[in-house]
Amino acid sequence: MNTDALIRSSRRTVLIVEDEAVNRELLSFILRDTYDVLTAADGVEAVELLEAHPGQIAMILLDIIMPRMNGIEFLKRRGADEALSRIPVIVLTSDKDAELETLKLGALDFITKPYDMPEIILARVRRIIEFVEDRQIIQDVERDALTGLYTRGFFFEYCRRLPTPADGERRDVIAVDVDHFRLVNEVYGKGFGDELLGAVAEGIREVAHDGFGIGCRGDVDLFYLLLDQRDDYEAIYNHLMERVHALGRQTNVRLRMGVYRGVEAARPLEWYCVAAKAACDTIRGNYARTVVVYDDTLHERELYNERLIADMENAIAEKQFIVYYQPKYDIRGDAPKLYSAEALVRWIHPELGFISPGAFIPLFEENGLISKLDDYVWRQAAAQIRDWRDRLGVDLPVSVNLSRMDFFDVHLKDRLLAIVAENGISVNNFVLEVTESAYSQNMDQMLKTVGELREAGFHIEMDDFGSGYSSLNMLCVMPIDALKIDMKFVRNVANSATGYRMVELVIDMARALGVPAIVEGVEDEAQYRLMKQVGCDIIQGYYFSKPVDAANFEPLLTKA
Ligand code: C2E
Ligand code: MG
Ligand code: MG
Repeated sequence: MNTDALIRSSRRTVLIVEDEAVNRELLSFILRDTYDVLTAADGVEAVELLEAHPGQIAMILLDIIMPRMNGIEFLKRRGADEALSRIPVIVLTSDKDAELETLKLGALDFITKPYDMPEIILARVRRIIEFVEDRQIIQDVERDALTGLYTRGFFFEYCRRLPTPADGERRDVIAVDVDHFRLVNEVYGKGFGDELLGAVAEGIREVAHDGFGIGCRGDVDLFYLLLDQRDDYEAIYNHLMERVHALGRQTNVRLRMGVYRGVEAARPLEWYCVAAKAACDTIRGNYARTVVVYDDTLHERELYNERLIADMENAIAEKQFIVYYQPKYDIRGDAPKLYSAEALVRWIHPELGFISPGAFIPLFEENGLISKLDDYVWRQAAAQIRDWRDRLGVDLPVSVNLSRMDFFDVHLKDRLLAIVAENGISVNNFVLEVTESAYSQNMDQMLKTVGELREAGFHIEMDDFGSGYSSLNMLCVMPIDALKIDMKFVRNVANSATGYRMVELVIDMARALGVPAIVEGVEDEAQYRLMKQVGCDIIQGYYFSKPVDAANFEPLLTKA
């Protein structure tokens, strides 16, 4: 149930202020099936009841002619009190002349005496309560608390109601994103992160104002603008950056901007926002570019991605995903020795052909589909371990990849244990690779889950080490069984002394943690020799083998 419905479902309290006991009874009778009813015999009693039930009364039915404090006096008093003036009032009257005056004093509707139409009275009360509450909900969700910008929901609602532009007039959607915002928060502190968002929001407000447009905060660090078309996108960008620089902190914070030129009525505005955001995401981490305009190649890529997402479930059912295996070799001894294998998924699509994980994993990570695929790969890999043991008598550990998403599942450990048990394999042989960036995103949670997985007997390898931003502190407290060093270290090792030194350093870190260092991406003899020299323990790379399907992996097993 949404909040709206939830709010609606609880019972409201209506206060009847009326000096004649018969009338009080009659109104109570009409309303009490639907509402909780309180009654007061005059304005003074009403004020007392309101004070005794702060924030609880949803509506007041108010008689005008009463002793002590009459209806008009009560309305004046209510008007002077901020909290009271939010409670809607329906005036009970037999006197037409009083209507105008009470309207001016803030009454919303009238019910005329005698009360001989119960359904109409009930319907009026209900309509006014809903109306007032709707208005309140809208006000609450209209503005984002941190930046004061419109919220995403309000932005879309507002834009939907805009008149369509006249012929020849066009509008653009612009998405603005803070590059690596999470990292900014980590490095400069959350306080600065908030200030930064405030500064960008200020810039967005100014741009929207100058461009006769509207802006909103679409997500944590994502902003949208709808503007009359213009060509000076760089100027907008520069204006926003000026706001950031005005914070007076020396940072390398940068924004990214994606533009969709010429929105049309044919598609919902949300679609254009997604497109502008997609354009903006193509330059994530690319310091050379700041503004990207959405174009046809991007559009094609979007369509391709949409297709992959749409086809995914069916592809699992039809076993279009094939698990490949790449060996890891222990190079500590005289001759390299097969140590384990990594399970790496490929998609053999019936129409699109061979698709490498780089094309679909990040996509599925974004929308959560990855968990389903991971589960599938884990099952395939576990069954493979069992199959090799049964047929070839080889008990080779195989590592599978876990995604950040997988850690949101509180049953992760039990699911993995179930897969291990169902296939009758040893938990030690079912190794889990967790990418470094997953660790830095939710350290406490990761610490807990990884600890539990290890207690259950799983070995954990930290994947892509050196590509994320994990802190040293995290490395020291995080329980792991191996460090997989990111490929970029090997790339630099042969051609520079610093590159070599860097590998030495990360291998030292592995030593300090008491775990083996696995180097990924070793492609040739020269790199292999350097890795041996620098003290690397285990190697995975094309030098030994590319990832291959299970059948092609078998010769490596029997050779070992
Ligand atoms: P990863 O886990 O770091 O896997 C290693 C990647 O390096 C693989 O890319 C592998 O083919 C590639 N590689 C290994 N040796 C060499 C080499 O010598 N040279 C070069 N140039 N590349 C090498 P692949 O298979 O394309 O997978 C890419 C990434 O996709 C993986 O990186 C992993 O993060 C992800 N991935 C693959 N399969 C799965 C899966 O089943 N689940 C999840 N969550 N992620 C997966
Ligand atoms: Mg991996
Ligand atoms: Mg890796």
